[in-house]
Amino acid sequence: MIDAGPAVPRADVSGAFDLELADTLTHATAEEATRQGFGGTSSAWGARCSPYEAVDFKTRAHVPHSGAPVGAEDLAPYVTPTARFFGVDDRFDSGEGDAAETPVRIDRYMRVSPCADMGRRYGTDLDASERVLLLLETRVLKLHFDPACGAVTRIDALRRGERYTLTPRAIVLCCGGIQNARLLLDMQRAHPRFLGGDAGPVGRYYMGHLSGSVARIAFHPPAAARPFQFSANPDGSFVRRIFTFSPALLEQEKLLNIYFAPVSYPLGDPGYRSSTLSALHLGLSLRFLSTGYMGKFRPGHKATPFDFRLGVRAHAGNILRQPVAAVTGLYRIGRERLGYTQRLPLFQYENPAGIYALRYHAEHAPNPESRVTLSNRSDSAGMPLPRVDFRYAPMDMVSVERAHEVFGRWLAQCGVARVHWLQPEDDRLAHIQVQASDGFHQIGLTRMSASPRSGVVDGDLKVHGTTNLFVSGASVLPTSSYAHPTFTAVSLALRLADFLAAGFV
Ligand SMILES: Cc1cc2nc3c(=O)[nH]c(=O)nc-3n(C[C@H](O)[C@H](O)[C@H](O)COP(=O)(O)OP(=O)(O)OC[C@H]3O[C@@H](n4cnc5c(N)ncnc54)[C@H](O)[C@@H]3O)c2cc1C
Repeated sequence: MIDAGPAVPRADVSGAFDLELADTLTHATAEEATRQGFGGTSSAWGARCSPYEAVDFKTRAHVPHSGAPVGAEDLAPYVTPTARFFGVDDRFDSGEGDAAETPVRIDRYMRVSPCADMGRRYGTDLDASERVLLLLETRVLKLHFDPACGAVTRIDALRRGERYTLTPRAIVLCCGGIQNARLLLDMQRAHPRFLGGDAGPVGRYYMGHLSGSVARIAFHPPAAARPFQFSANPDGSFVRRIFTFSPALLEQEKLLNIYFAPVSYPLGDPGYRSSTLSALHLGLSLRFLSTGYMGKFRPGHKATPFDFRLGVRAHAGNILRQPVAAVTGLYRIGRERLGYTQRLPLFQYENPAGIYALRYHAEHAPNPESRVTLSNRSDSAGMPLPRVDFRYAPMDMVSVERAHEVFGRWLAQCGVARVHWLQPEDDRLAHIQVQASDGFHQIGLTRMSASPRSGVVDGDLKVHGTTNLFVSGASVLPTSSYAHPTFTAVSLALRLADFLAAGFV
């Protein structure tokens, strides 16, 4: 195993992993999106785990460039080992619903790993292993490909200022999506016809997700929201139900995949009528009165309670209506947040009005124009930096808006909740577009495909046209699903490990 970073991952400080961004509003910077070192970006991730569904691997007529050379059935044997790898339960479906009959499903679980940092979780095991040699602070600079035999015959690496040549029998690139593409694009420079050259699929179809909130959901009765809140398991992991759409509904409405979940309403809004949340809001707001705190943001700031919107009167009203509940609620929040080994990925608290922000996490459609190329600028080792032109297309935003309408209608029919848009109709698409931004989920850049014309790796994750070069990670996923990508990327990695162990090396 070779990793460019140190034993404890950190955001690169040398500039070797910088990104040139075409649009800084839609894509995170390198420091926000990646970590270098043992365990990689898992030292910074949100640890949300859910496998792709069968529909995510299928060819869908209304989703251009959809379809994969493997299906959910190929990955089914790896769901339990992957769940074990992340330390979560392997049930992602309560088994209550019949997808064929229920247009909106409430039987899917999302889980959060109890020990998110995979370097910490597995470091000792790997150190103790006699079969794994771990080379840290060693950066792979170049792959040398010999078209005559179709193999990568050697790699150039840089370790503490010294250059080395390595000649492995097989190579699995797992450098994170953008860096995987960067190494393959560099290889393509030396072999311009490799994988279709500039017009080919390497570095194209770059996807993340669209996420955010453009509506509120009000549950009747308020307790109906409870199953959709995260709850803690005895093993330290968290689980919650999410709202998803059946494949039939996605096809009928021509929607990209999406999930919905209620999340805490903005603390500053007293409309939730919760004395606990109002007390928390006023308590947290006290920091705005401190010149020390505000001075960091606004030099010369003079503390006054009146220069920002505290909403003191309305929040005090909430507290006075139920003062005891305010105290017990704050105690509960404090105990829960301090008591968990892994922090919840977001703040949540049940409120008496049953009103929550409605969060969506939606599929980003594959688009060949959303891509990474090599910049004219190079890093200190002379390697060209990746240039990221990450794009959303109108169909991505339209699908999110339409999914809200379909979901709202279904909730109203069931009588369990209502969806209220935050914006007038004309502003909704713009609001969804403003929130669309990623770079954390680096999907599609070396996508799987049956043919080298439409993708980079085959169903065994071997780079088309090569005999010994493989790619692993979210970049091999050909579509982005509603699901966070790492669980499925690890299932594919375990399947690749079996393939290699069965005779390749
Ligand atoms: C803030 C944040 C939240 C996230 N939340 C979630 C979530 O909740 N759920 C989810 O599924 N995903 C989430 N992700 C995405 C998830 O972290 C990534 O999908 C996952 O870490 C990718 O794993 P990887 O091993 O493919 O790449 P990485 O974890 O990025 O690791 C790549 C490793 O390769 C090394 N490397 C790179 N280039 C070279 C080179 N040339 N030579 C040698 N070594 C190299 C790096 O040093 C690094 O250690 C999140 C990401 C972020 C940033």
